Amino acid sequence: MSNKTKKKMVTSQMAFSKYGSPDVTFERKWMTVIDFTKKAGNLKKLIPALPDRAYVNKDIVGPLLDALNNLIERNHRHELKTWDGCFNVRPKRGLNSMSLHSWAIAIDVNAATNGLGKQPTLSEGFVKCFTDAGFHWGGTWKRRDGMHFELSKI
Ligand SMILES: [Zn+2]
Repeated sequence: MSNKTKKKMVTSQMAFSKYGSPDVTFERKWMTVIDFTKKAGNLKKLIPALPDRAYVNKDIVGPLLDALNNLIERNHRHELKTWDGCFNVRPKRGLNSMSLHSWAIAIDVNAATNGLGKQPTLSEGFVKCFTDAGFHWGGTWKRRDGMHFELSKI
């Protein structure tokens, strides 16, 4: 990975300095419930794969809604097959650092067909809906994580 790419990514240290450790105090200050049935008319109706509600970091709400609106405007909404989670306090699988899911600033989608270390199946246009909205895609990593989108800055 080039330094240029590295610089663009949010590290777990950056997340620690902004949000603190992902505990109850963090949750009280930063976490919120997003109700997809009440956003943009009813996002859940247009993108049925969405849950009714999701528990997320306040910082991800704007970029996430932008990405979903991009999916609708650019006709990629049917490509979202499953919502596979956001908030999950855990180390990066097999690695010695915390996943950005620990602060709920990352989401996983279409996990069944975009497994860790596997060739991603998301279309370029679908991915661009997210990257244009302020996400970094895990599908470009050396150890590909095609299901994974995380905030590209905090
Ligand atoms: Zn992920």
